[in-house]
Amino acid sequence: MELRILGCSGGEADGERLTGLLVNGCVAIDAGSITAALTVAEQVKIQHVFLSHSHLDHICTLPFFTKNIFGHTHEAVEIHALPETLDVLRRHLFNDELWPDFSVIPSPNDPTIRYTEIEPECSYHVCGLHITPIRVNHLVPCVGYKVDDGKDAFIFTSDTAETDRIWEVANATPNLRLVITEASFPNEQAWLAEASKHLTPAKLGAELAKLRRAVPVRIYHLTPGDKATMLPQLEALGDARVRLLTQDERLVW
Ligand SMILES: [Zn+2]
Ligand SMILES: [Zn+2]
Repeated sequence: MELRILGCSGGEADGERLTGLLVNGCVAIDAGSITAALTVAEQVKIQHVFLSHSHLDHICTLPFFTKNIFGHTHEAVEIHALPETLDVLRRHLFNDELWPDFSVIPSPNDPTIRYTEIEPECSYHVCGLHITPIRVNHLVPCVGYKVDDGKDAFIFTSDTAETDRIWEVANATPNLRLVITEASFPNEQAWLAEASKHLTPAKLGAELAKLRRAVPVRIYHLTPGDKATMLPQLEALGDARVRLLTQDERLVW
């Protein structure tokens, strides 16, 4: 399996792209940086996009992606997400006002994108991968994902505050190689993390006590302007599994 980190920042700035993972060149998980990180030729190879939730930093390149692939693909790209997330896309994004409705362009029978509802805990088999959404605890309905090719697996929690189920799944995945999880705000802003359902480094420490596996844990979604404050706070956890996730890195198993 090849996992490419297209973007992993909690905010956009020069050199900092928003959340997006690419698995085996064919499956995108979240769409915060598809068009910013990939050539059009690479974008055309994406057949499935799995969204964790509707927040803008996880979906914002979908409109430009649909425009780039229009006329260059034979099959509609499937957008997999919770019903609530797809509802937001339909009502607020691909509504002909903010962006054309590419789910009926060029025609309803032969569209550019197709919406596919997902159900937490169900496994979806695409591009040789088993992808399982797991519900997490965020401001809007949100899932993390377990991605498993039968040999190796990784878990991406997406944006979440305190949660349990995804750690249970991680503990029960024998071929787990990596966990990607979040820390969004410094410890001093615990109130903001609570209000927006994110983690601080201290809260992350409590979450990691639930993960009883000696696998690498890579942290994403730091607020760009708070990175310098947060790095020593992450270090202070004293958890040897913890390291920052880095944009543009490729992890291969
Ligand atoms: Zn979010
Ligand atoms: Zn986010």
